[in-house]
Amino acid sequence: MDLKPECAKCSKVVCDSKHFLKGPSNCPTKTKSEVIRQAMAEYDKPEVREFARQASIQEFECYMNLPEGRTPRNPRVEEIAQFAKKMGYKKIGIASCIGLRVEAKILATILENRGFDVVSICCKVGAIPKETIGITKEQKIKGPGSFESMCNPITQAEILNNEEVEFNILVGLCVGHDSLFFKYAKAPTTVLIAKDRVFGHNPAAALYLSGSYYRKLLRKE
Ligand code: SF4
Repeated sequence: MDLKPECAKCSKVVCDSKHFLKGPSNCPTKTKSEVIRQAMAEYDKPEVREFARQASIQEFECYMNLPEGRTPRNPRVEEIAQFAKKMGYKKIGIASCIGLRVEAKILATILENRGFDVVSICCKVGAIPKETIGITKEQKIKGPGSFESMCNPITQAEILNNEEVEFNILVGLCVGHDSLFFKYAKAPTTVLIAKDRVFGHNPAAALYLSGSYYRKLLRKE
């Protein structure tokens, strides 16, 4: 029997209750006990434990228990600023897409108004031609004869590493470019904006519409 974990398809979801051992047969809470044990050992590192603890406190503080019921209260940008303050960070890096420079500027202002020292790096930093990584003239967005700088997430990460920022915030990096940034950045990184060119940077909208206007997303290939 295939015990591959499929939490995304679980119909029991008992892992947030005292009945946590009553999940399906492929429940990783039951089948992956050794991996869980090893992973939990990481939290014994004081810096990791403190990061995890503050993140959970931040999560807790994002709700209010009102007479009419529990309600959320913090937009993500507020959450990020509050978390950075909890962690005692002074210097914050922003790695942004050139197409979201307006948003990056607003974010920098919000953070500076709260006393953070902000370093921001645009994805086109270095102005390295796309041909350098094997992009053909037909694959250039502005057309075959144009000069087009490559998105340069490794350089973004390395400059922020060089500036010794304590925390990074991603603003709209492309799919894959964001992955490279995560791989090379030394400081922990969070995402403020996940780029979605169609849905105004709300990628979940495509999932919400997959039962109607975006049914094509569920096609079998
Ligand atoms: S951990 Fe177990 S109970 Fe929780 S969602 Fe995954 S399979 Fe379901």
